[in-house]
Amino acid sequence: MADVVASQNGGIMKMKRGQKLCKECGETCGARAKVCKHCGAPFEVRTDPAVRMKRLRSKAKKKGLVEVTDWRELKPGQEVHYNGRSGSYWLNGDGTKDYTTDKGVYKIVNVLDKGFGAYGKKGYTFFDMSTGVSNVSPYLHNSPYKILVKSSQS
Ligand SMILES: [Zn+2]
Repeated sequence: MADVVASQNGGIMKMKRGQKLCKECGETCGARAKVCKHCGAPFEVRTDPAVRMKRLRSKAKKKGLVEVTDWRELKPGQEVHYNGRSGSYWLNGDGTKDYTTDKGVYKIVNVLDKGFGAYGKKGYTFFDMSTGVSNVSPYLHNSPYKILVKSSQS
């Protein structure tokens, strides 16, 4: 029995488990192949958001980073990592969010009532850790930042 009956004319195709079909050349490749081994065409790789988050988290863990549970315990001079996708954002008309802060490494300057100031690539940035609509604009929302620190520092 043939494993594959390639079929440009609409015939029946049989594939082994764990294989996928190349749209370009009609050959089969392993399910995890990123490019077709026959013609080199790239496969679409769909990664669902939950898996992506898990990967990001484990990546952070490998770097020895842990999430800060109480930002009030941050100390001036301490280095913190901000990976984006949390904190203050502009709410767009279509419901999407544009986060205002650049991801990167910041050095804590001061810890205040509603958040902390830190120095990054673009200068001083205030990380507002409160929740709600900002005084600055009805479209600007505050939301706590997810901040990571090297685990050896904590
Ligand atoms: Zn191919």
